[in-house]
Amino acid sequence: MQLPIYVENVIRRLNECGFECYAVGGCVRDSLLGFSPSDWDLCTNAKPQAVQEVFGDVPCIPTGLPHGTVTLLIDGHPLEITTYRTEGAYSDARHPDEVHFVTSLREDLVRRDFTVNAMAYHPDEGVLDFFNGQDDLRHNVLRCVGVATERLREDPLRILRGLRFASCYGFDIEEETAEALHKERQGLSCVARERVREEVNRLLLGKHVADVLLRFPDVIGEVIPELCDSVSFEQHNRYHCYPVYEHSVRALEQADPILTVRLALLLHDVGKPRTFSMDENGCGHFYSHAKVSEAMTHEILTRLRYDKKTIERVTALVRYHDVPLECTATCIKRWLNRLGEAPFRELLLVKEGDCRAQSPQVIAPRLEELSRLSSLFEQVLQEKPCFSLKDLAVNGKDVLAQGIPAGEKVGQILNALLDQVIEGKLPNERVALLDAILKNT
Ligand code: ATP
Ligand code: MG
Repeated sequence: MQLPIYVENVIRRLNECGFECYAVGGCVRDSLLGFSPSDWDLCTNAKPQAVQEVFGDVPCIPTGLPHGTVTLLIDGHPLEITTYRTEGAYSDARHPDEVHFVTSLREDLVRRDFTVNAMAYHPDEGVLDFFNGQDDLRHNVLRCVGVATERLREDPLRILRGLRFASCYGFDIEEETAEALHKERQGLSCVARERVREEVNRLLLGKHVADVLLRFPDVIGEVIPELCDSVSFEQHNRYHCYPVYEHSVRALEQADPILTVRLALLLHDVGKPRTFSMDENGCGHFYSHAKVSEAMTHEILTRLRYDKKTIERVTALVRYHDVPLECTATCIKRWLNRLGEAPFRELLLVKEGDCRAQSPQVIAPRLEELSRLSSLFEQVLQEKPCFSLKDLAVNGKDVLAQGIPAGEKVGQILNALLDQVIEGKLPNERVALLDAILKNT
């Protein structure tokens, strides 16, 4: 294991002052897996005050002093140092009631969630591993430290963390831990929604997300109860070979790991059970399901405290996920006008994911159609098309200068011009557009 030099320097400096200090948690796990850690966390038996004294010459941010955390800004890197601690009982599962500082590294490690996250490292002592985290890592196993049900009950966020680690790293979840994840899921209702949201996001972006969502629909259903009805909901039509929830999960797995795209695919059919009907031939229909799914998506994302921009983007993707797109430049420009470039690109990804999770016999022709559409889209973009009023070669002032009185009419004229430019009936050129204004008034 290789510590960055600035991390090793901090450890050694605390050691020289008579304190213990170790790299701990996710950075040890990731290093042992051969990944470069996103950040390095240190733990020490020095109290926060003492840490600040030892590093009196370094900018220190008392990030979470009551919890024992000090952040050093060292050679431009923020580095968190936390005093060995245990946590008291969680009364509301949101905030540890109390934090007790403890004196040994082992006591600090035993409060951590999973064995693979409960290892420490020192450049002279190597890996300190009291709970067989290295073994579990070698065998690719996720296991709670101690009694799983108790650990998940103490802090139910750990349930989603567990799913997230399984999704991102492909861990097999050890049996007792897996059982506890199911059994303790109701505890999630007490966890702050922002924390839930952050874990859901990371879970959705993992490579193994489908395995996890298919194995724990009850857990995700605790967070998004609207999904429960779609689990095992048969579609009874030739386009679909999977029940609704399974289709959505397989669709999202096949899409690029872009949060808005994956959220949209998770929720694109959430309204299907509510709109189901069967015709006299025994064929299932879901009329207006996109609209119903859109409304439900809005509610779900608002409840989970997503930001306005994400909500807008995802609801639009859900709304239009099954809209037919003609493979013509005009159609593409109309959609660019309605959505903008980036969201339209995401709509194509949503459609592709949706398609890939349908019946084998419909996939190939639909993918081909989407691929033609994508190529045409790129070609259209190359031409730097005008698809919004701000790209139009004339503006409101020009319309007024043609003697049109200020008011609604100005906007109508501009929109009519834009329409004609999108349809290729007029070039986006000033002279031609001014001429058209005169002719039409
Ligand atoms: P990453 O940084 O990649 O998200 P991580 O494991 O480092 O993964 P952090 O949230 O940074 O996750 O937490 C650092 C360490 O703190 C974890 O490895 C784990 O040892 C411990 N930890 C974090 N959250 C909890 C929790 N809810 N319950 C118990 N231990 C936790
Ligand atoms: Mg971390």
